Amino acid sequence: MKTALNQEILQGTGISRGVAVGKPHFWDLKDAEVPSYAVEESDLERERRRFKKSWAGARDDLERLKCQLESEGARDAVAIIEAQLQLLGDPLLYDAVGSALESEGRNVEVLLSDVVERFRVRFETMDDPYFRDRFQDLEDVKQRILGHLLMDGVVNVSKIPEGAVIVAPLLAPSHTAAMQRHVVAACVTEKGGVTSHAAIVAKAKGVPMVTGIDVSKLCGPEVSQVIVDGVTGRVIINPSHDTLKKYRSMQRRLGVLQDLLLEQRELPAETHDGYRVRLCVNVEDIEEIDHVHEHCASGVGLFRSEYLLLTNKKFPSEEQQYQVYSKLAERLQGLPLVVRVFDVGGDKNLDEESGWQDVNPYLSLRAIRFLLRERDIFRTQVRAILRATAHGKVKILLPMVSGVEELRQAKEVIAEVRDDLIKKKEPIADSIAVGTMIELPSAALIADHLAAESDFLSIGTNDLIQYALAVDRTDHTMTGHYVPTHPGVLRLISYIVSEAHKHKVPVSLCGEMAADPRYTALLLGLGVEELSVAMRHVLLIKHVIRRVNIVEARKLSQQVLAMDSHVAIDELLAHHYSLLVPEDCLQP
Ligand code: PEP
Ligand code: MG
Repeated sequence: MKTALNQEILQGTGISRGVAVGKPHFWDLKDAEVPSYAVEESDLERERRRFKKSWAGARDDLERLKCQLESEGARDAVAIIEAQLQLLGDPLLYDAVGSALESEGRNVEVLLSDVVERFRVRFETMDDPYFRDRFQDLEDVKQRILGHLLMDGVVNVSKIPEGAVIVAPLLAPSHTAAMQRHVVAACVTEKGGVTSHAAIVAKAKGVPMVTGIDVSKLCGPEVSQVIVDGVTGRVIINPSHDTLKKYRSMQRRLGVLQDLLLEQRELPAETHDGYRVRLCVNVEDIEEIDHVHEHCASGVGLFRSEYLLLTNKKFPSEEQQYQVYSKLAERLQGLPLVVRVFDVGGDKNLDEESGWQDVNPYLSLRAIRFLLRERDIFRTQVRAILRATAHGKVKILLPMVSGVEELRQAKEVIAEVRDDLIKKKEPIADSIAVGTMIELPSAALIADHLAAESDFLSIGTNDLIQYALAVDRTDHTMTGHYVPTHPGVLRLISYIVSEAHKHKVPVSLCGEMAADPRYTALLLGLGVEELSVAMRHVLLIKHVIRRVNIVEARKLSQQVLAMDSHVAIDELLAHHYSLLVPEDCLQP
C-alpha cells in the first residue's frame, strides 16, 4: 500500500510489542561458505581436537551469553540458552560428527553441516509447529560451532550499528539473545511464529519484532529509515514526516507508561472503586519465583509442572519433584502455589522414544486422561505435591477435565495417597485444595457439577477457545479464526463464573486472555476474581485493574454478552481500553 511518494506500509504480524524507528541492517543468516576437503588418516586426531575446541568455544560463548541475559533479567531468554547448552551437553550430535570423521575422512565443518541437515529432515516432518521451531536451536548451535571452526565470526553481533533495525529472513534465538537492547531498535523477519524462540527472546528483552514481512523490500539502498510497529504488525518504509511525528509521539507515550508501571510496582491490584483482584503469575521456570514478591503478585496461579519433564525428557522422581515444589512453596513465603499436575500431550507432546505419540495429540491421551491411565506417574506426582504442603500453601490443579467421573477418580487417587502419607507419618498439611481446569466446552457446560465437587475452578482459555472454535492454537495461519471474544466463548466463560459463584467456589482465569489488557475490564465485569498471567504482563494488567471501575465493568460485560459479532465486540473493547488507558496507545 503506497500512501505517499515513497512511504510504503507492509503488513506482517507483531510478535513483540513496542515501536521503534531505525535504519535497516540486513543480516543474511544463510550458512557461511562451508569448505569441504578430505582429511588424511594422519590428520584425523588434529581434526578431532579442532572440533573439540570449537565445541568448547561454543559452550563458553553460551555460558557468557547466559550470564549477560541473567544480569539483564531476561529470564525467558535464559531458558532458551539453557536449552542450547543442553544440546551441547548431549553426546548425540558430537558423537555423530566423530563417527562420520572416522568413516568419511572429511573436514568437520562439512560433517557437522551434513549431520545437522539429517536432523533437519526429521524435525521438518514433525506435525507440531512448536517442535519444528525447536530445530532453530540446533541450527543456531551449529552456526556457533562453525563460527569457531571458521574463525570468521558467523555469529558476531558486534558489528551492528547503534539504533539498527535488524532485517533477516529468519533469526536464530541466540542472535536475538546477543543483541543489546540499547543497540538494536527492532527486528523484522520473514519467518518465525509467535512460539519461535527468537520471538520469545525478543519479548523478554523488550525488543519490538514483526514477522511475515517480505524482507527483500527493506534491502535496497533507497530504504533509509523504517518504523517497526510491534503492536499492529506494520513496517513502514521511508515514513513521511507526518507518520514519523505520530510514531515518535507514540514512542514517548509508551516510555511514560513503562515508567509509570515501574512506579506502581508495589501498589495492590485493586480497582478504582476498591475491588481487590487476585493477580497471580503463571510460572514454568522456578528461577522466576522471586519476582512474584517484587511485583507484589498474589501468588502462583499456575505452575506448569510438565515443563519439568519436557526439559529432562523423562518423568522426574518423587524426590526431584518434591525438591522443586517445596522450594517454590518456601520461596513464596505463604502465598499460594497452584501446581497443575502433568499436562502432557497436545502441544506439549512427549518425544518419540517415550512411546506416547498420538495421531492427533490434541484429541488423544492428554493431561488427566493420561494420568488416570498411568496411575503410578500420577501417584508419584501427588505424593511429591502433598509432601510439599508442609512448606507452604500448595494446591493441586487438574488439567483437561471433561466430566465429573475424571474429577472423582483423580480425587480418589489424591485421597489414597494422602491416607498413605498420614499412615507413614509424613508431615503434610491438614487438607489440600483441589481445583479443576475448565478447558473443554463439555466441562464449561457442567461447571455447576464440577464446581460442586471442586475447591476452585481455573479457566484455561488457551484450550477452551481452541476446542470451542475447532482452531489449532499453535497454527499461526489460523490467527484470524482464534477469537477470544467470540460470543460463544464469552458465554461459556460467563456461565462458568456464575455457576462457580453459585457454589461459592473461587474462579480464576489463567489463559493468555488474562494477559491482554483489552479484556481486563470485561473479565472483571463477568465476575472473574483472579487473573493469572506470565510475569512480564503483571505490571500492565495491574495498571489496567487500577483504572477499572467495577460497576462500569459489569455494565460493559452485560453489553458485550448481548452482542452477536466478535468484530463489534473487539471494536467496543478497543474503544473502551483506549479511554481507560490512553497512554497504552495501540494506534500512533
Ligand atoms: C490454557 O489452556 O489456557 C492453559 C492455561 O493451559 P496451557 O496453555 O498450559 O495449555
Ligand atoms: Mg491448557
